[in-house]
Amino acid sequence: MNMMYQSTRNKEEQVTASQAILKGLASDGGLFVPVDIPKVDIKEVGFFNQTYQELAYKIMQPFLSDFTEEELKECINRAYDDKFTNEKIAPLRKVGEDYYLELYHGSTLAFKDMALSILPYLMTTAVKKQKIDNEIVILTATSGDTGKAAMEGFSDVEGTKIIVFYPKDGVSDIQEKQMVTQKGNNTFVVGINGNFDDAQKAVKDMFENDKLNKELASKNKQFSSANSINIGRLVPQIVYYFYAYQQLIESKEISLGELINVSVPTGNFGNILAAFYAKQMGLPIDYLICASNKNNVLTDFFSSGHYSRNRDFYVTNSPSMDILVSSNLERLLYEITNKDANRLSRLMTDLKQRGEYSLDPVEFKRLDGFFAGFTEEEKIETIVKAVFEQTKEVIDPHTAVAKKVADEFDKNQNKTVIVSTASPFKFPRVFTGKVEAGSEIKALHEISQLPIPKVISELEDLEIRHHHVVELSEMEDKVLEFLR
Ligand SMILES: *Cc1c(COP(=O)(O)O)cnc(C)c1O
Repeated sequence: MNMMYQSTRNKEEQVTASQAILKGLASDGGLFVPVDIPKVDIKEVGFFNQTYQELAYKIMQPFLSDFTEEELKECINRAYDDKFTNEKIAPLRKVGEDYYLELYHGSTLAFKDMALSILPYLMTTAVKKQKIDNEIVILTATSGDTGKAAMEGFSDVEGTKIIVFYPKDGVSDIQEKQMVTQKGNNTFVVGINGNFDDAQKAVKDMFENDKLNKELASKNKQFSSANSINIGRLVPQIVYYFYAYQQLIESKEISLGELINVSVPTGNFGNILAAFYAKQMGLPIDYLICASNKNNVLTDFFSSGHYSRNRDFYVTNSPSMDILVSSNLERLLYEITNKDANRLSRLMTDLKQRGEYSLDPVEFKRLDGFFAGFTEEEKIETIVKAVFEQTKEVIDPHTAVAKKVADEFDKNQNKTVIVSTASPFKFPRVFTGKVEAGSEIKALHEISQLPIPKVISELEDLEIRHHHVVELSEMEDKVLEFLR
């Protein structure tokens, strides 16, 4: 029996993994979720001396059961190769009393590489399996890191085009530079006058726009998504939570079965949802610590059961978390409402029409395994500097948010894994302070003695290839222009 996926908003439509990956979003605007989250017996996972690739196969296989063993192993081996500058792919490092799971050793220096280096292979395999002749057009909204990582993955992949929208004034200089210098004849990058939420909403609307979809179909093209609304993004992210657990066992920090916590810097709720899925599968995770920056809509939600996006939006120095509508929360709501698709439709309609919704007390109680907190903007710099003074380690501002909330957590004494989502070289200014613009990287290198990653040092000499900036209302026309 194949693992099937259904929409969070409708139980009728069921599809296989490869169909769900190709579609991205369900036809009713809901997200695809596994009908049942597969369980593993942790005694059989064999948490010892296993490569990342071997473990990845074990964890991903039950979710992607319509892929053959050969197909899935090929996807895994091509994705997690020497593009990653650390042979462990996702090393866990003990720093002082903390454990950092470093997810930034891929080609764009952010954790998005963990899933986006495999998604193109999953998608092209799915195209073959489903015997699709259409060209796949990946439409993506980015808060800075997804866009670059997705383009790296899909650049010059035959049978695909990728179009990325980013908030023109809402990403860091390095993030923007990485995107506008992207190579590949099938890549398109557009800045928008709006924030990430605006971009994400406009992209979702295009997915649901019948007229646009028909127009694409007439040109033998179809949309898919590289955002974490695509289940093909989420499944690969479950793997590294198991791998963190394995490394804790290997270094004798814990014994098999011992509960741990994880602290995740959260934006669109994809990364922490993967940890939730890992827990549902049977990985001994106790608390899921949801760490936000000043855009603390999730902190309020987890403490009150009331979600409200009717609030100010802040551009912060951890821009990849500047989000007020966290898409993947819908998948968590689905689980805590006992998979009640009608209830989900109502909540999501409330969100769309009124910008808010509330859980009932029974649903709220089911959020017990989460602890949420946030970090004020000024605090982030203090934390980054304190960590450096105490340990000589440099962490990036997103990771600092997770560290701060992990330090506040007081519900148990378990070991806590802090998820480190970006290289400090991607967001150097927080660490170096007010040095002259353009010299932050050198300053970071000199103070920290860390080598400058090659993708950063090369950036200056790359040609700027993408110059488009549009209003929200012009996004659809831009897509059609690129596809002409
Ligand atoms: C995307 C991103 C996040 C947020 O992850 P979500 O899965 O969207 O919650 C955190 N840190 C960095 C560096 C990111 O790129």
